[in-house]
Formats: sequence, C-alpha cells, structure tokens
Amino acid sequence: MVEFLLLLLPVAAASGWLAAKRSDKRQEAAVSEREQNPAYFKGLNYLLNEQPDKAIDVFVQMLEIDNETVETHLALGNLFRRRGEVERAIRIHQNLIARPTLDRTQRAQALLELGQDYMRAGLFDRAENLFVELLEINQHEVPALQNLRIIYQQEKDWAKCLDIIFKLEEITGEPLSTECAHYYCELAVIARKELNYTQAAQLLKKAQESDDNCVRAALVQGKVDAAQENYQAAIKSFKQVVQQDPAFVSEVLPFLIQCYIKLNQRDKLIAYLQQLYQQQKRIAVMLVLSELLQEDKGDQAAVEFVADYLHEYSSLDGVQKLIDLSRKSAKGSLADTFSILHEQISKLMEKRPAYQCKQCGLEVKTLHWQCPGCSSWNSIKPVLGLDNDNN
Ligand SMILES: [Zn+2]
Repeated sequence: MVEFLLLLLPVAAASGWLAAKRSDKRQEAAVSEREQNPAYFKGLNYLLNEQPDKAIDVFVQMLEIDNETVETHLALGNLFRRRGEVERAIRIHQNLIARPTLDRTQRAQALLELGQDYMRAGLFDRAENLFVELLEINQHEVPALQNLRIIYQQEKDWAKCLDIIFKLEEITGEPLSTECAHYYCELAVIARKELNYTQAAQLLKKAQESDDNCVRAALVQGKVDAAQENYQAAIKSFKQVVQQDPAFVSEVLPFLIQCYIKLNQRDKLIAYLQQLYQQQKRIAVMLVLSELLQEDKGDQAAVEFVADYLHEYSSLDGVQKLIDLSRKSAKGSLADTFSILHEQISKLMEKRPAYQCKQCGLEVKTLHWQCPGCSSWNSIKPVLGLDNDNN
C-alpha cells in the first residue's frame, strides 16, 4: 500500500503541475501552486497518519479530468482493479464516463475498463450492457466478445454463446471448435432431458461437425439412442467414445453393458471387452471381465485373472477386487483379516479423485466438461486408481 501511495505522490504533484502549466498566469508559479495546494497536504497528512485509503481518495480527486489526465485515470483505475480494489476502480471509471469531454476512443476505453471492473465484481448484468454497447459502436470488439462469452457461459445461455463464438471466429479468424462443440452438446443435453430426441440428434451432429473428435457428443448420442431403445446404434456411439479417447472407457462401460444385455448379446460384449483388453490392459475393462469370468467359470478363475493383472500393474481397485473374490471362501481369522483390508482399502479409494483436469491439475469427484478451476473445456479426464495404475 505504501509503495502504491509513493507512486501516487508524483502523480498528484504532476496533476497540480499540469493544471498550472495550462494557465499562462500560473505557469511560473507551478511549483509553489502545488506546494500551496491544501488538498496535496491533506493527502500527505493522511499518508503520514497511516490512513492510506483516505490519502488515495484525496490524490485521485486532485487529478482533474481532462484530455491530458484521462490516461492517468485509466491507469489508476486499472491498477486498483488489479489490486482487487474493485469499488474504487468502478468509481474512477464511472467518473470518467460521466465526462462529456471524452473523445470516442477515450470513452470506449473507459467503457471496456468499467466492464472489466463489473466482471471482477460479479456484476454481470451491468458488464453485459457495457460490452454490448462496445459492439454497437464497433470498439474493442474482441475483448467485449470474450467477456460476453464468459457472462453467457455463467448464465448457461448456450445459444448466445454460439452467437458470440461465430462473431469471434469471424473477427479473429481463429476457430473455436472445442467450445463450439460443447455449446451444441449443452443444448443437446437440454433437448434430451425434454425428450426431444430428434432435436438432440441434430444438435449432436452439429457438435461433431464442429469437432469430429468430440467425445461428449458421441457419449450423449449413445444415451439418446439408448433412451429410444435403439441399442445397436447406442453401442456404436459408445464404442466411438472409446475409440476417440480410451480414458473415457470407464464412463461408457456401464451403458455398453446395459445395451448388450438388452440385445441379449453377452457373447458380443465379452468379445469386445477382450479385444479392448488385448489392446490396452485398462483396469476398468479388467474389472468387468473378471465379473463376467466369475459368472461363467467361478471364483477361482476370476481370482487368477485378477492376480495376473496385479503381477503386472499396481491398482487399488484390483486389490479390492481380489479381496472381494477371496474373502467369500475365507473362514475364521482370515475372514476377519480380509474384512479389515476391505474396509481400509475402501477408505483409501474414497479419498481418490475420480477426475482430473489436464490443464490445471484440479481434482474433482464428478465429470465436468468445463473445468471449474481453469474454465477450459474438454480438459477433465477420468482417472481410475493410483498414479501407477494402468487406467
Ligand atoms: Zn482446469
């Protein structure tokens, strides 16, 4: 705070100097003018009495707004916002905008700054009005659109988000395919909840056209197909998810199993899982295969299958599965030991995150398509097991 005020002192002094410079009569008396300015000493007094807030107010008031000090006001407001003193930044920028003497460029700059203050303060309605005004006067369009996109994302107004994306792409020439696909997916999810499957499918098609590697579009499409009892199509969509990003296999397995069971095609399910397992020994696939094996060939075959996996990979899920399978036949103190192990491993498993953002590292319990930490889309992936798990 003191460093900041030391910065302001010469600014305040310069303000007095500028005011004096503009007046012929006062030109020669510039220094004495400043020295005699009671506000300057009032501010200095506040500073010396360790009342920095009041000192800042006095120094800012000393800065008369005219074409020569607009930049200083903008810089000060910006500085306050960055320091987290948003109310003060808002006051400075509102004060600037109220001046009829500002030229078009200065006013637009002040509008942008005030909009950013409102964003920082969480006053999205007010910020939106300013950014829309900037678009209407064709000034600072890119930052205005970027901020509007953040506002509409917060409000979950996905149709407006799409409009913004199209405008941004047109101005910058840079594609925003990932975001675009997710906005279509968001709209498709709403349509699916409203049982409007045709519309959902149309929106998902657009999502895939925007980003042909959009895992979410294939996942939602599978759910839409399954909801319409079109299980064959659903299986195709869920398989597409795994093909696009094998890390999502744990997300689709429960749905895939349901679809195969509905079609009475358990053999095809096993064949598909075995094929996946040969490509990569993912723990999620291993767990389902062990259950199917247990149903077909009994506990011992399943125990051997899980143990084989654990010889090669470390996995809490694998160990828990092995305990589950083994404790059924255990008796006496061995059964008690298995119970304790089972309980302890459950506690360890509860502490693990189920998903992690590849962008910022945030760990979360549920799948978010947009990271709550860094706001990136598509950056959160499922994680199953500990670090050295082959998930
Ligand atoms: Zn993140």
